[in-house]
Amino acid sequence: MTGDKDDQSKTSCNRCGSCCKQGGPALHTRDLDLVLSGKLHFEDLITVRRGELALQPLTDLPQPVIKEFIKLKGQGNDWCCRFYDHQASACTIYAQRPVACGLLDCTRPDELLAIAGRDLLSRFDLLAADDSLLPLVKLHEEHCPCPQLSKLADRLVADKEDTLEQLTRRVNLDLAVRSKAAREFVLSVDRELFYFGRPLFQLMQPLGFTVTETMQGLVLHYSPT
Ligand code: SF4
Ligand code: SF4
Repeated sequence: MTGDKDDQSKTSCNRCGSCCKQGGPALHTRDLDLVLSGKLHFEDLITVRRGELALQPLTDLPQPVIKEFIKLKGQGNDWCCRFYDHQASACTIYAQRPVACGLLDCTRPDELLAIAGRDLLSRFDLLAADDSLLPLVKLHEEHCPCPQLSKLADRLVADKEDTLEQLTRRVNLDLAVRSKAAREFVLSVDRELFYFGRPLFQLMQPLGFTVTETMQGLVLHYSPT
């Protein structure tokens, strides 16, 4: 989330909503009860996996994710927090908002920065031991980890053909696991984003990757701008 840092005249939060529009917060261990008590559902959450690039609180620069975390989802293709009501310019879960939202004041960022990246919840803190999808989530994490996106450009310079081949295999395996989950566990797309994070090919698109569909699956291409 990024505050409205350009407005130098601001001395306290004026509820402009810019931070909510930049994206929902990461969940911390103190937010666990919001999920366990059913105030937040898996449909409301998205997993950001290790290796992805993500904005850190109050910055505009995507950084490599070194440990997976969960955050509140956006609205459709927009990162704006799904609980932000544009018409009312208000949070629809204000009384039950995650801890990071309660600390967020872009005019006094110290409290939020003190918890940024610490005590974050992951999928494995939220999934019950008997969740029928847990074995598939573990298998997916083992065989389809998110590559270090910040290092892909260097890998491609070193060996473009081999890197593209490996990534194409992983992208297709990622999709195959998601299809299996949808087919065998009737997993909705909304819940898929919690269980498996965003599809790898989608994460790679902003980096200059495109895909074509073939009978054998997706083929990745790389042409940075
Ligand atoms: S903390 Fe307040 S003033 Fe700053 S961006 Fe968020 S809503 Fe706007
Ligand atoms: S939960 Fe509420 S306060 Fe927090 S980012 Fe979403 S809309 Fe803003």
